[in-house]
Amino acid sequence: MKDPSCPTRLVVDEDAAVIVRRMFNMRCNGDGYRKIAIQLNADGILTAKEYWYNREGKPNPYKSIGKWTYHTVKKILTNEVYLGHSIKFKIGTMSYKNKKNINKRPEDWIRVENTHTPIINQEVWNTVYEMSQSCRDKKPRKRNSYLFSTLTFCQDCGSAMVGQSHTNKRKDGTSRISKTYICRRKQRIGECSWHSIGESDLLEIVSMDIRHQLERVTFDETAVIRKIQGSATAGALLEAKQKLVALDSRLTELENLGCKLYEDRLARIISLDTFKELSAKVEDERVQKQAEREALSCEIEKADRQIFDIGQWIDSVRSYCKLENPDQDAIRSLVERVEIGEPSCRSRYKQQAITIYYRFVGQLG
Ligand SMILES: [Zn+2]
Repeated sequence: MKDPSCPTRLVVDEDAAVIVRRMFNMRCNGDGYRKIAIQLNADGILTAKEYWYNREGKPNPYKSIGKWTYHTVKKILTNEVYLGHSIKFKIGTMSYKNKKNINKRPEDWIRVENTHTPIINQEVWNTVYEMSQSCRDKKPRKRNSYLFSTLTFCQDCGSAMVGQSHTNKRKDGTSRISKTYICRRKQRIGECSWHSIGESDLLEIVSMDIRHQLERVTFDETAVIRKIQGSATAGALLEAKQKLVALDSRLTELENLGCKLYEDRLARIISLDTFKELSAKVEDERVQKQAEREALSCEIEKADRQIFDIGQWIDSVRSYCKLENPDQDAIRSLVERVEIGEPSCRSRYKQQAITIYYRFVGQLG
């Protein structure tokens, strides 16, 4: 923290130093950034930002989640300020012409050693630094693709579920990659529950449901369309189409009426005043009916579009069921979102709530 009597000098805030030392020790003992974050959150330790605002007695203006994450832990464990050094100009402007702030490259930083009392010693720093370097030296991890990536959500907290891969070694020496989805909130900050679902199980459940939908369509397609549309919508659509016919016929009548009035006026059958008065009435009604017609055709178009979408969805269901190994595109053509709940028990026959929302048609029974 800044020395209250000399703002340019840093002094050690002992309460915060205890936490920082604990974090460095955990890292030295081999804990990863994420594990440290989860432990700190579990112990109710305030983040650096929250701690600072708390100590200053100011409300935190940032809409941050106020929890430790992989990145906030990493930021502390790679900051030389805890070693007693000051690093300046980490952020600077792009050039003297462009004043936009950018993060500068480490070789452009200005490092001043021993500017204040260190919180950790060089030995601890070196151990932590070497650990971060050895992590960096590892071969870049091959990104696995997940069939349900961005489609799965935690039913408990609503956050996205993210894919994780594990390599399982078989007895014969071969290996198999198993993929599971876990709650991102749990993975990042340790909140929510550890419920997960294997990709192969999820694919089976989703495929089973899609096959069930195909059976329903094959049995009675019209009934399925009507059910998805909602019987009210189907009735309303018919009524709207009938109303449109009536409006069109009234509009033709009004047009004819306008012509007739004009002819009558030319033949001097009606006076100019009567002509003006009746013409205005006809025109008023024509404008009103025309507006009604436009709104109605918009509604009909929307409902027709829905029927088209349902038809497209049914086509996708048919082609999906023909596939032996559905891929990401096949799943995406049908499924919009899958919500995964917490299993009721962890026995072999666990029960887990899974809600599938389909594209165009939403949730189906
Ligand atoms: Zn969750």
